[in-house]
Amino acid sequence: MPQHHTHVLILGSGPAGCAAAIYAARANRQPILINGIQPGGQLTITTDVENYPGFADVIQGPWLMEQMIKQCEHVGTRIFSDHITKVDLSKKPFTATGESGTVYTGDSIIICTGAQAKWLGLESEKKFQGYGVSGCATCDGFFFKGKEVAVVGGGNSAVEEALYLTNHASKVTVIHRRDKFRAEKILQDRLFKNPKINVIWNSQVKEVLGGGNPPGVTGVKIIESGKERELKVDGVFIAIGHFPNTALFKGMIDMDNDGYIITKANSTKTNIPGVFAAGDVQDKIFRQAVTAAGTGCMAALEIEKYLG
Ligand code: NAP
Repeated sequence: MPQHHTHVLILGSGPAGCAAAIYAARANRQPILINGIQPGGQLTITTDVENYPGFADVIQGPWLMEQMIKQCEHVGTRIFSDHITKVDLSKKPFTATGESGTVYTGDSIIICTGAQAKWLGLESEKKFQGYGVSGCATCDGFFFKGKEVAVVGGGNSAVEEALYLTNHASKVTVIHRRDKFRAEKILQDRLFKNPKINVIWNSQVKEVLGGGNPPGVTGVKIIESGKERELKVDGVFIAIGHFPNTALFKGMIDMDNDGYIITKANSTKTNIPGVFAAGDVQDKIFRQAVTAAGTGCMAALEIEKYLG
């Protein structure tokens, strides 16, 4: 089996992994960065980014990540396209084994595996996934040109997805379980001003309706303020938050009740010396590209002390 060793092994290639790699490479540590299942992380499934400092004009998420990954390479990071299926954090060097069979070992390791979208957990939602139910408006919005769609959720993701979908759909209905959004005010203002969007408050989706062969969505059954009713839509976008990608590390490292890796205060250190965590995998409060990059930088700087 091929084997590669490094001072700094980085799992995940979102803003946290990339920032860690840039700092570690510039410290002459020849880091290895494992791309993971979604190279570039969550920003690769967004469109407009206007809150990452340094760009006066609106930029695109996939472009930003492409630039970060190129920057990693440019400063000397060794990047591998692999998906890690097994890790051993019990002894040094730490080991990560890829789907390819390649074994990566590191004197230190930075976990930057990020987070991913949550689903409602309905049987019907699963049945129509890919056939009208989606977790990514920027990936699938195009398929709903001139159609009516629903977005479930009330955070930044839901509001951004609803706004984005107005580029394609004829009508967008946001279904939210409370009577106010938690999204930023500026996004809410844009949403309320958009004539294509309406909001159904205090409502939960009970079932996704549809049928046919190939299957397709025809509507959703909702409970609105305690009363059941149906809404006709051709697509449903679920935007109700995220959960951390930590299944691989379960039982090996300290995590909180939601599965986020616990790091020490003002640090990216975990309970295992030499194992660091950065980005959304350890942050359920801020979860921004810029904060993820910040903690990636912190991890690389803390590793310098650890290895030194
Ligand atoms: P979020 O802020 O956690 O919001 C999740 C939303 O889904 C909430 O409104 C929540 O309702 C609702 N929800 C959760 N579980 C539900 C369920 N089972 N059924 C129905 N509704 C449910 O998640 P997010 O919008 O994905 O954002 C995550 C983080 O990324 C946030 O920190 C956000 O600021 C950040 N983000 C930033 C940007 C940006 O800056 N441009 C863009 C996207 C995301 P309640 O309100 O009732 O809890």
